[in-house]
Amino acid sequence: MYKFDEKRDNIIPITHKIQRKDRENIKNQKSCVIWLTGLSGSGKSTIANELEYRLNKMKHHTYLLDGDNIRSGLNSDLGFSEKDREENIRRISEVAKLFLEAGIITITAFISPFKKDREKARDIIGEDFIEVFVDTPIKECIKRDPKGLYKKALNGEIKEFTGINSPYEEPTNPDIHIDTTNNDIVSSVDLIIKYLNDKGYINV
Ligand code: ADP
Repeated sequence: MYKFDEKRDNIIPITHKIQRKDRENIKNQKSCVIWLTGLSGSGKSTIANELEYRLNKMKHHTYLLDGDNIRSGLNSDLGFSEKDREENIRRISEVAKLFLEAGIITITAFISPFKKDREKARDIIGEDFIEVFVDTPIKECIKRDPKGLYKKALNGEIKEFTGINSPYEEPTNPDIHIDTTNNDIVSSVDLIIKYLNDKGYINV
């Protein structure tokens, strides 16, 4: 016998009159999610910030979702266990997808250490998910230590810190690979802008 299910039967998606394409068109851009992954201190936030600045100057509509702003708000109930990291990435992916639908060039800067979580992000977001590996050797990240977190982790004050006592699974086939040993911040951003232009997301 048919059983009424409140959640299943009362959620009826409406067809929007205005679609993603219409939103993109008035912005003269094609939206995408530029997903930066890498160790803490690898340069994700720095590159993301500079990228957003450059795109904004070029009159593109962007938004930056950053580890610290999301973790202090939407995901403030989550910690750093494997399960919480997975939920962290799932929620970020869903939020990024909404921005994508809004026609916005969305930049995310999260360590996102696990391959399966990045694959899930790609599944949720779809074909306009651009994985960018900010590749900085751990030795260099420890040397930079912009937030003093490696020092704490090495002293045993932080449990489950990526690269020290929690793994970082490197992307094997990222869409963009940035070797920050050989690229400064400006040329790292240049690489991403060139990719966006080549793929038709923007017109330089
Ligand atoms: P993350 O967001 O990955 O944790 P941050 O961007 O907060 O890393 O910190 C990276 C630090 O490394 C910054 O202080 C930045 O100025 C410095 N840095 C040095 N060289 C580079 C480079 N080539 N690319 C990005 N950041 C760099």
